[in-house]
Amino acid sequence: MFDTHCHLNFKRFKKNLDEVISRAFDAGVTKIVIPGTDITSSKKAIEIAEKYDGIYAAVGIHPHHTAKYSSSVIPDSDPESRKDWILNQVQDDIFQIKQLLNHPKVVAVGEVGMDRHKYEDTKYEAYNIDNRFLNIQKKLLRLQIELAIKHNKSLILHNREAREDILQIIEENWDNSLSGRTVFHCCEPNLELLNFAKEHNMFIGVDGDVTYDKAKQEFIKQVPFEMLVLETDSPFILPEPLLSQKKYPNEPKNIRYVIEAVAKLKGEKVDKVEQVTTKNGTALFHMALIS
Ligand SMILES: [Zn+2]
Ligand SMILES: [Zn+2]
Repeated sequence: MFDTHCHLNFKRFKKNLDEVISRAFDAGVTKIVIPGTDITSSKKAIEIAEKYDGIYAAVGIHPHHTAKYSSSVIPDSDPESRKDWILNQVQDDIFQIKQLLNHPKVVAVGEVGMDRHKYEDTKYEAYNIDNRFLNIQKKLLRLQIELAIKHNKSLILHNREAREDILQIIEENWDNSLSGRTVFHCCEPNLELLNFAKEHNMFIGVDGDVTYDKAKQEFIKQVPFEMLVLETDSPFILPEPLLSQKKYPNEPKNIRYVIEAVAKLKGEKVDKVEQVTTKNGTALFHMALIS
């Protein structure tokens, strides 16, 4: 089984990381990709990947972390120098991500994208989802798509409530080298996204919410088998029945529940879903099937 998206690099796993990873391997998970969300978590993803066969890292700045630039106390308040200041910060961070891409276990740029969701539980004090905020997100996304293209890496896309924005940026910055190696992670159940993904030969990431979310279930029935990759997004998106049992946090071994749900929806055998989605994952990240 292949967990193509989980955050073992988050604090939540700090105390029991080795146990979580051995539970995953014992359960039959053979491959894991850990995406970064900022510089620190990207470095942490690499650090974990270095220690284990079958574990890989992605590096990138998540759109939510745009709040870091927009809510910072900016030394000079006149609009032009403020803009320059933000741009410098962004470019510094992009430069750091670029350096991390040279690591042999980094398989992708990610997770990057667009996000209009206002998070309650956030370390950032003052942030508003206004045009300025969205423009910084767009800038970050453009620069990171460019990095994936230049460095010949796969691309993990995050979209939350920002479909139109993200599709526009991808379209404008698309390069054929991204075909077959880009994923809409935790894809919204939406046909416009599916059609776009088909046209661009992209993958669709499916999570634990497919065990209970009716819209996602209907959506997955329409996604061709060869486009599906599975993810837990641990520590988030706990699948049923673990959700009702409040068995937090989610962890990679629970990918089994996602496989079972997809098998049921597709009318396929569990073994077949396991095989096909693992193969799809290795194709997405340009990995050998056996590591
Ligand atoms: Zn995400
Ligand atoms: Zn994520």
